[in-house]
Amino acid sequence: MKKCRASCRIAIIGAGASGVAAATRLLENGFCHVQILEAEDYIGGRIRTIPFADNVADLGAQWCHGMKNNCVYDMVKHLDLVAPTGDFFNDVAMVRSNKEVIPLELGHKLQEMAYGSIPNDSTPAVGSMGSYVVEQFWKAVDNQIPDVDRELAVEFLESFQKHESSIEGSDNLFEISGRSHLEYEECEGDQLVHWRCKGYARFLRLLMKVGEDEPCELGLLNGRVKFGKKVSRIQILPGRKLQVDCEDESFKVDHVICTVSLGVLQKEMDTMFSPPLPPAKVKAIQSLRLGTVDKIFFEYETHPFPKDFVGFYPLWLEKDLKELRESKHAWLEGITGIHNITCQPRVVLAWVGGVHGRKAELLTDEEFLESMQWLFRKFLSFEMPEPKRFLRTKWYLNPNFRGSYSYRTTTADELDTGAWDLASPIMGEENHPSLLFAGEATSRSHYSTVHGATEAGWREADRLIEYYAICN
Ligand SMILES: Cc1cc2nc3c(=O)[nH]c(=O)nc-3n(C[C@H](O)[C@H](O)[C@H](O)COP(=O)(O)OP(=O)(O)OC[C@H]3O[C@@H](n4cnc5c(N)ncnc54)[C@H](O)[C@@H]3O)c2cc1C
Repeated sequence: MKKCRASCRIAIIGAGASGVAAATRLLENGFCHVQILEAEDYIGGRIRTIPFADNVADLGAQWCHGMKNNCVYDMVKHLDLVAPTGDFFNDVAMVRSNKEVIPLELGHKLQEMAYGSIPNDSTPAVGSMGSYVVEQFWKAVDNQIPDVDRELAVEFLESFQKHESSIEGSDNLFEISGRSHLEYEECEGDQLVHWRCKGYARFLRLLMKVGEDEPCELGLLNGRVKFGKKVSRIQILPGRKLQVDCEDESFKVDHVICTVSLGVLQKEMDTMFSPPLPPAKVKAIQSLRLGTVDKIFFEYETHPFPKDFVGFYPLWLEKDLKELRESKHAWLEGITGIHNITCQPRVVLAWVGGVHGRKAELLTDEEFLESMQWLFRKFLSFEMPEPKRFLRTKWYLNPNFRGSYSYRTTTADELDTGAWDLASPIMGEENHPSLLFAGEATSRSHYSTVHGATEAGWREADRLIEYYAICN
């Protein structure tokens, strides 16, 4: 006999935005037995806010991207918790490896042409985003600024592609499907809405209904998250049951919502699921990608940049790039930008991504800092002091994430698969929704974001709410 909301048992794998969103929605809708199993020892997953310098550092998600049709923004817009950053990245200088700063006007023109080269609804692209951007950019250069220094334009385009790749989360733009990129629906409004000095974890507190200074365990999830529980196996059993195995404990439940990252699925799907996942889901898991984007937070005694300098994008001269690639600092090619951040007056934030980001994760702190100081000396005409301390992320090396956020590949296009296959539930006997999938990568239109992860968690909770609608 079918159970009801009060009696059925649900295990949610992962306490990131998606898992927390799913659990809280279920609890608010009369489900009584909801348990989150989390491998780490904190709530938030890729939302990780920790004390740093004058307030906090967001090691993962930092900004709410957009203000319209964005479920995160909708939850906070009436509260005094967030503020727009504005066109901050427009003010970041472009600096060549011979210390030359590109005149602002020329920099803006190049940027305008590059952004105009990104596929949009009116210019549908086939093939990769990279090939489209490169072709359109050079057409724009020839039409609009034919006399520009070509070497400079090449350096700029390289830097722009790296910056865009880090926004997309990819190793390079040539892996990204131009068509699927258009499936991402950008929410209108400021793309860098920030959480003042509280960090993105403030959003989780809202979801869990915990006050700003209250301990997290007092909210809706009180007693419902088990930490240090790495799920190794999820078995669908006869009789509409599932067994979830952790190293030291097993759970019998009626439904599982799995929210682990695409990287974890790629690495562990062969051993994690019994029976094995269906071919369509395997195809989606294998052809979508989870990229690497890492952050480095440098804390100084006082802010090290001159007034009016908010940061820089490194542009490598061809000869310098050649030398760099043969040196021990080769990974620095993956540095996409270095700049100030709001609410942290003594902190500078640097980004490193892709294959170089993965290499950087393997360096010791000493090696890492030595390279960074070398980069500052190479590019800047003012002296950067040694930081008081610094923090760097290693999202790729962490086995509970294996990367930063997902993107859509040309391979997925060719195989005609995508988020829809990743999101589709595995039904058990009598059309029982046994094993459900959430997490940012399952979002068709808002993948790679917190609002996408949250919507995905709600989507799967709603699936169960609807399934049990009749008996409640
Ligand atoms: C550097 C960086 C910057 C970002 N910046 C932004 C931004 O500014 N704005 C934005 O909207 N988004 C940003 N994102 C993306 C955003 O953080 C993610 O899309 C979102 O947080 C993902 O949530 P999730 O619940 O899908 O996955 P996760 O947060 O990864 O949650 C999954 C959870 O599952 C746990 N887990 C994994 N394996 C197991 C297992 N076997 N057993 C039990 N538990 C397991 C993990 O520990 C994790 O807690 C950023 C991400 C990174 C890394």
